[in-house]
This record gives sequence, C-alpha cells and structure tokens, in this order.
Amino acid sequence: KKLTIEDIPGVGEATAEKLRENGLDDIMAIATASPKDVSELTGIGEGSVAKIISAARKIADIGNFETGEEIFQKRKDVLRLTTGSNNLDSLLGGGLETQSITEFFGEFGSGKTQIMHQLAVNCTMPEEKGGFNSDVLIIDTENTFRPERIIQMSKYRELDSDEVLRRIHVARAYNSHHQILLGEKASEMAKEYNAKLLIVDSLTSHFRSEYMGRGSLSERQQLLNRHMHDLLRFGTLQNAVIAVTNQVAARPDVFFGDPTAPIGGNIVGHTATFRIYLRKGKAGKRIARLIDSPYLPEGEAVIQVSEDGIID
Ligand code: ADP
Ligand code: MG
Repeated sequence: KKLTIEDIPGVGEATAEKLRENGLDDIMAIATASPKDVSELTGIGEGSVAKIISAARKIADIGNFETGEEIFQKRKDVLRLTTGSNNLDSLLGGGLETQSITEFFGEFGSGKTQIMHQLAVNCTMPEEKGGFNSDVLIIDTENTFRPERIIQMSKYRELDSDEVLRRIHVARAYNSHHQILLGEKASEMAKEYNAKLLIVDSLTSHFRSEYMGRGSLSERQQLLNRHMHDLLRFGTLQNAVIAVTNQVAARPDVFFGDPTAPIGGNIVGHTATFRIYLRKGKAGKRIARLIDSPYLPEGEAVIQVSEDGIID
C-alpha cells in the first residue's frame, strides 16, 4: 500500500490539509523540503515542521541506491516529443525527453516562444506523428501566448485547430511567487487534464526583475531551485516533457567568445537536463546548439521559424 502524508507520525488531518494546500502532497516532497520553506508556506512553526520532516525522512525511501538495471528499466518509459524539425529532433536523439527539463535559451527574438507554441501543438498530435495525444499546461509569464499562432501551426499540420486550442491550458503568472504556486499546482492539475507537457515561458524573467542586486541573489537561486524541482516532480509523476525558456544577459566581464550567458546560472544549468542555445541566422533561420547533455554529443541544428511554425 502506498503511504500518504497522514502516515507521517505527528501529521493529523489539519496539518495534512495545510501541507496539501501548499503542494506538499507526498512523503518524499516533505522529506526533502527545507524546514524554513515549509514553515513559511504553511504557517506551521519551524520546530514542528522540523519534527515532521525528520519523521517523513524515516519512512521515505531516501538513500535507496538503485541498480543500473533498475534505472535502465525506468529509462524505457521515457517518451520523445517531436519539435517539428527533423534536424532538431535528430540533435536531441529523437525529440524532447519526458522526465527531464529541457531549457531553450537565447536572446530576445531568437524563437523561444515560437518553439513553445510548436511543442504545445505537437503534444496534442497522435503518437505516430511524434506527439503524445494529450493535453498541455503552459505557465505564461510574459503574456506572449497567442492562440492565433496555435491555429496557424495546427493548420499546417492538418489538425483541427479548435480541438488543439481546447487541449492547451494557459495560466498567466503575475510574479515569481505566483509562478511558484502554479508550478506546485501543476502536479494536481496534470491528472485532471492528462497533460504530458508543461511549458514555462519564461522560467526566469520574473525572478530576474524582482531579485536585483547581489544581496538577493542567493534567495532568488533558492526559489528557482525549488521551482525547478517542482517542475521536475511533475515530469516524473506524469512521464511528461518539461520545456522552459530562459533569456541571456550580457556578461560585462567577458571580452572573448560569447559575451552572453543564460540567466539563473548554475541552478538552472544543473537542474535542466538538456540545454539548447538558440541564435539567429539569416532569413528566419535559427541555429540551435545542444549544450551539456548527459549522453548526447554537443552539436548544432538549423531550424526555421516560419508562418507554419518550426520546420527544417
Ligand atoms: P523569443 O521568445 O525568443 O523572444 P519569439 O519566439 O517570440 O522570440 O520569436 C519571435 C520571432 O519569431 C519573430 O522575430 C519572427 O521572426 C518569428 N515569427 C513570429 N511569428 C511569426 C509568423 N507568424 N511567421 C513567421 N515568423 C514569425
Ligand atoms: Mg518569448
């Protein structure tokens, strides 16, 4: 029998409800949370929270080493979502992987939002066309979701655009706190909608504008870290693709090579399994570069951002 959070010694009905309301709905989530975060979220005192967390750790499967064979077995569940471009799919070993976070970063206008729209359309397509035949959740932080683009892209793929639009569920995030809450909510909503794609466009813009200056940097990184782990949890629970976008910022200290770097630094870089750097080429072309993959070689693919969407 799968244990629920009520099985944690010291967690009664009222406490369980407070935890659940804040997205802490399984033992592992509580066992790996920081006492300070949980206390702030739930309003439960830090002392009580520390006891709950330590009790959760005793019954959670932390520190269970798995054999390579077991992990290989799980890897067999991984599905791939087409990007719409054969070139980019090949670079990624067949498309975007479920159970991982894929980050697209690049400067303004490099095509990040266009790719997110295309992924949303593709997710609704049948399996034999490289889709998941399932719904999509989008956390839109910059108000750049455009149904008109979904319709154009659907027509090109010969899909019923009304049906595609019905399967895409968009939430505007008004600030970073709201974005974090939506990330937590996504896990609950996923089951309701059977969503197998979660998009956050953009992952970092609110954090970047709200946490300026050196003093607030570590707080920002902590929150981003927590947010990304919520997203990853969604990906594992639902066997879903997580796609996020990220801007680049100028690095005044770099004189040679590329003078830009993705926002969020190490935290985002380490939590995203796949990172793709987009830059503009000629005539609607974009160059996508795969960086830091755990098992695929680095390389580049040329894609086109067109009226019809993302194509070769
Ligand atoms: P980012 O999110 O990286 O800032 P976008 O994904 O919004 O950038 O990309 C914007 C670019 O996409 C535009 O500059 C344009 O080149 C291209 N684009 C947007 N809509 C269309 C369209 N309907 N037809 C062709 N290209 C388009
Ligand atoms: Mg954008």
